[in-house]
Amino acid sequence: MTSILIAEDEVRISQFIDKGLRAEGFATTIAEDGTSALDLALTDQFDLMILDLGLPELDGIDVLQRLRGSGSRIPVIILTARRNITDTVQGLEQGANDYMVKPFQFAELMARVRLRLREADSTTAVGADADVITFGQVSLDLRTRRVRVQDTSHELTAREFTLVETFLRHAGQVLSREQLLGHAWGYDFDPQSNIVDVYVRTLRRKLGADRIVTVRGMGYRFEP
Ligand code: CA
Repeated sequence: MTSILIAEDEVRISQFIDKGLRAEGFATTIAEDGTSALDLALTDQFDLMILDLGLPELDGIDVLQRLRGSGSRIPVIILTARRNITDTVQGLEQGANDYMVKPFQFAELMARVRLRLREADSTTAVGADADVITFGQVSLDLRTRRVRVQDTSHELTAREFTLVETFLRHAGQVLSREQLLGHAWGYDFDPQSNIVDVYVRTLRRKLGADRIVTVRGMGYRFEP
């Protein structure tokens, strides 16, 4: 099982990431300060680390510097609330593989996690179709961000793309509005919003009306 270390001191955010990653089938461990994050990262038990920069005891930049200083090549995705570009540049110079600025959408983080894991896993051959998700007659190209239904290809907006990706990765499962909001809009979105329903209507026009089924009182399910 792929193990991910989450170094984040803000419980709301660490729980959000933790829940999302577990739902995707990853094993997770949370470190709430820089010192334990570094200790854990150095154990070689993890395949990837998500690293907040503003951590107590030891700053994320220091964690990264010591980690790389000791020869660890674990992929690191920096998570930062700081919009200051110098932090990000410094992080990348210290050997981070990627970064995300808070607030972020879970789906975006997930895409980066998968990408960095794929890069790191050079021993596994990645097929030419690794960037296409197909379910039934619907295929989503992760690079061009277009969806193909039978022989027709459609453009998708960023949110539509995220929703289609979420539906395809969980095809046949019921997804609640809350799960879809968390994936496509992040944890800062009002759970009372009907925005998901609005997007589902648009997607039904592009993918076909009967592909996204309403499960009364529960949410939506993608069907082939
Ligand atoms: Ca923090």
